[in-house]
Amino acid sequence: MDRLNIYYTVIYFFIFLFGVCVGSFLNVCIYRLPKNEGLIKRNSHCMTCGEEIKRRDLIPIISWCILRGKCRNCGAKISPRYTVVEALNGVLWLFTALWFDIVARPMYIILTCLMISALVVVFFMDWDTQLINTWVVVFIGVLAVLEIILCRNNTGLEISSHIIGAFAVSVPLMIVTLISKEKAMGWGDVYLMAAGGLYLGTQGILVALGVALISGSICGLAIKHFSGNSKFAFGPYLSLGILVAVFWGASIGDWYMEFTGLNEMLA
Ligand SMILES: [Zn+2]
Repeated sequence: MDRLNIYYTVIYFFIFLFGVCVGSFLNVCIYRLPKNEGLIKRNSHCMTCGEEIKRRDLIPIISWCILRGKCRNCGAKISPRYTVVEALNGVLWLFTALWFDIVARPMYIILTCLMISALVVVFFMDWDTQLINTWVVVFIGVLAVLEIILCRNNTGLEISSHIIGAFAVSVPLMIVTLISKEKAMGWGDVYLMAAGGLYLGTQGILVALGVALISGSICGLAIKHFSGNSKFAFGPYLSLGILVAVFWGASIGDWYMEFTGLNEMLA
C-alpha cells in the first residue's frame, strides 16, 4: 500500500482533525467528570468571569491561537492545556492510524483510538484529582470486549491471553491496595490495569506495568525534588505504560525475554 498517495493523505488528515475535535470533548470530560457535572448540558464558560464562550471561539486549537490564550470577555489567561489535550489526541489518533495497517485493520484502529482517548482522560484527571473515574475504566473494558469479538483474527492474541492479562497485573495491585489500605495504590489503578490487560493481553499489560513503574519512580522523584510535592498519582504512569504497550508491547516484551534469557528458560 502506498501510504503517501493523495487518497490516504486526505483520510489521515481527517483522522487528525476528528481526533482534535474529540480532544475538545475529552477536555470537558477531564474537568466535569470529577465534579459530577453533566457532559453536554451546559456550554463551556470562562473559568475566571464565568462568561459563556461563544460558538465562534470554540474551534479547537485555532480559537485559542487567535485569542492568544485569553478570554474574549475579561482577558484572563486560558490554560494552554485545553489546546495541548486537543492537539495530543489528534496526533495520537494520526499516529495510531499510521502505525497499524488502515486497510487490513480499520476496526482495530477505531477501537484503539477510542481506548487511547480514554487513557488521555485518565492521565489528566488522575494528575489533577488523584482519582480515576470508574466510567472511563468501564469504557476501556467495553472496548476490550469489542476488540476480542471483532478483531480476534488480526491481533494475533489468544482469548486466554486477554483473560490472563486482565488479572496478571490487577491482582498484584489489588493486594498492594488492600495491604497499604489504599495509600500506595487506589482501586482506580486496579480497575484500570484489569481493563487495560483485557485489551492488551498478558505480555502487553506486563510491559505496561514495567513502563509505569520506571517512568513513575523517575518522574515521582523528580517532581518531589523540584517542587517538594510528594502528592503522587500512579494513574498517569499506568496510562502512559498502556499507551507505550499498545505500540511497542510485543517488541519490548520479546527484547526483555531475550535480554534476560527467559525465552530459553521457558522454551
Ligand atoms: Zn473571562
